[in-house]
Amino acid sequence: MNKIRHLIDISDLTTEEIDGIIAVAEDIMRHRADYAHACDGKKIATLFFEPSTRTRLSFEAAMIELGGNTLGFASASNSSTTKGESVMDTIRTVSAYADIIAMRHPLEGAALAASRRSVVPVINAGDGGHCHPTQTLADLLTIKNRHGRLHGLTVGICGDLKYGRTVHSLINALTRYPGNRLIMISPPELGIPNYVRYEIMEPRGAVWSTCSTIEDCIADLDVLYMTRIQKERFADLDEYERLKDCYVLNAEKMKAARSDMSVLHPLPRVKEISVDVDDDPRACYFKQVEYGKFMRMALILRLLDDAAKGYCPETTRREILSEGFVCRNPKCVTAVETDLPQQFSLRDKAHNVYRCEYCETRFGHQK
Ligand code: ASP
Repeated sequence: MNKIRHLIDISDLTTEEIDGIIAVAEDIMRHRADYAHACDGKKIATLFFEPSTRTRLSFEAAMIELGGNTLGFASASNSSTTKGESVMDTIRTVSAYADIIAMRHPLEGAALAASRRSVVPVINAGDGGHCHPTQTLADLLTIKNRHGRLHGLTVGICGDLKYGRTVHSLINALTRYPGNRLIMISPPELGIPNYVRYEIMEPRGAVWSTCSTIEDCIADLDVLYMTRIQKERFADLDEYERLKDCYVLNAEKMKAARSDMSVLHPLPRVKEISVDVDDDPRACYFKQVEYGKFMRMALILRLLDDAAKGYCPETTRREILSEGFVCRNPKCVTAVETDLPQQFSLRDKAHNVYRCEYCETRFGHQK
């Protein structure tokens, strides 16, 4: 089988490639008619095993605006999953019908697993609480358009940093640009996962701190990235009830923010941004939705072009150093798709840290 380039994790793109995709998205925004036939005859399959409004529709709108067509399903209940079909078989089938696939699935690592069976590019449109690289592309374009740069920014990230997959991908991207400072605003229970902290932020020397309230740091921020508490990821709904309204941004709190700050949110919001912020010129979350479509257009062009050229660079994915362990995360794709090979890699030799390649769950001694 030919090697195909996929987008599973934002690490699959170099920083230069991200900048290049942003540049194409900006060009599309300026010269939309020039791209109206760029994907004539091409099809995108959107396979959403988990609910979505913006991501699925923006992938479909993106392909339509490029002159292509769409097929797919918006819920697992409309697919043969209900008959017991595996993700792997579904993807193998769909890759016979489409030129590119955007897939969302509640299991962590599902997109990576799917990419290994697909003969066309697979784009991860969200895999459980793990990552969401195309939301990050939308976030970056929004920030670039508002602030003119992706470096030297102070970014507050607020809410559910544990289960919020968009946060994990965003941190991975922002910590590559020099001079960014991150302020994590979350309850202790919903802080960033260890792998993000120890294997992405620390090795890059990321400058970051924590803050327990929005009020305490809002005046310092260039960007405030709000997130929803991810109800669907909680094993204990009482805990969700206790934490759900822990942070609410409202017009009163915005008074302390700088006039050029921007508020982003991957949406949907529940109560974490009060509607009285919506008409504030610093509220960028609906603009972010529009940018998401342009970034997805640019990404589709890039991946289809790479596929046509047979270009598939070695990704930064680690070498598999150990097999024979079993991932203990019940939300890992390997817990359900038991035919998948278990795969672990050594991430931190000094502390003997192995992690599952699909979901990043640790195997080894506690740090
Ligand atoms: N739409 C984003 C996601 O799919 C954010 C969210 O659902 O809270 O992760």
